[in-house]
Amino acid sequence: MTPIGRFAPTPSGRMHLGNVFAAMIAWLSIRSQKGQMILRMEDLDTQRTKPEYAQTLREDLNWLGLDWDLETQPQSQRTAVYDHYFSQLKAQGLLYPCYCTRAQLHSLDAPHASDGTYIYPGTCRELVTPPEGRTPSWRLRVPEGIWQVEDLLQGTYTENLATHCGDFVLRRSDNMYVYQLAVTVDDGEAGVTEVVRGLDLLSSAPRQMYLQTLLGFSHPRYGHVPLLLAPDGRRLSKRDRDMDLGYLQTQYTPEALLGILAHAAGLTATPSPISLQELIGAFSWEKLHKDSIVLSLE
Ligand code: GLU
Repeated sequence: MTPIGRFAPTPSGRMHLGNVFAAMIAWLSIRSQKGQMILRMEDLDTQRTKPEYAQTLREDLNWLGLDWDLETQPQSQRTAVYDHYFSQLKAQGLLYPCYCTRAQLHSLDAPHASDGTYIYPGTCRELVTPPEGRTPSWRLRVPEGIWQVEDLLQGTYTENLATHCGDFVLRRSDNMYVYQLAVTVDDGEAGVTEVVRGLDLLSSAPRQMYLQTLLGFSHPRYGHVPLLLAPDGRRLSKRDRDMDLGYLQTQYTPEALLGILAHAAGLTATPSPISLQELIGAFSWEKLHKDSIVLSLE
C-alpha cells in the first residue's frame, strides 16, 4: 500500500517557520517512503481564512520545493459531505443537542484540562425539554475508555476522552462543523495513512481516533513534531513577522532555510544549506528531536 501523507494548512496568514518545519518533516517522511502527498486547505473558518492566503501557501510550498501530488477539495466546500457523516452518527443516537451558552460553559464547576479547555460534564446529555428559540450545538457522546496513540516521535500517548474533554462538539450552534469532524472525514476519505503535524495537536489525536472508529476509517500513523520557540521561549506564531516566509524569502535561499531547519530537527550535523533530495537520504524518525526547539536566526 502506498503511504499517503498530507499538508493541511489553515490559510489564515503567511506560513511561519513552525509551519515550514512541520511541513518539511511531513514531506520528508512520505517522500523517503516513496509515498504520495496531498494538500488540503483547512478553511472551515471562513471569517479567518482567505483564498489569497491559500494561493500564497501553495507558492510558499513550491518555493521550498515541498511538492504534492493532489490537492483535495477545501473544507469550506464540503459541508454536504460532513452532513452525511454527521447524520450517520445522529442516526446511531451518538449525538445530542446542547443548549449551554458560552458563559455557562466557562462558569462550569467542572475541572479544566491543563490546556485551558473545559471538560464538558454532560449537562444536556439527557435533556427532556429543550429551551425554545435557540439553535443548539451538537455533541458526540464519549464513553469511558483509554485511547492510545503510538506516536512516531513522542512514543505512547494515552488519554481517556471522558476525563480529558467529555462529550465534544461536532457542529456548532452557527451550524459550522468543527475541525475534529472535518479532519477525520477528510483524512479518512483521502486514504491518508500518515499524519505529521505540530505537537500542539497531539491531544486531538484521540478524538480523531474515536471518530475514525465510529465512521469506519482506519487509523493513520501519527507523528507530532516539536514546536519551534523564539529565543525568549515563546512559541512562534503568525504574529512574528520576522519568522514568516515572506520576510525569510528575502534573506535566505530555500536550501539555506532547509539546512537550518534540518539541523534544528536533529537530521544533520551542521546548519549548512542542503537540498531536499539530500535530506531525503538523511531522514529518519529516530534522529528527530522530540522536545521543543529554540531557534534563533541571527
Ligand atoms: N489545519 C491545522 C493547522 O493549520 C492542522 C491540522 C492537522 O494537521 O490536523 O494548524
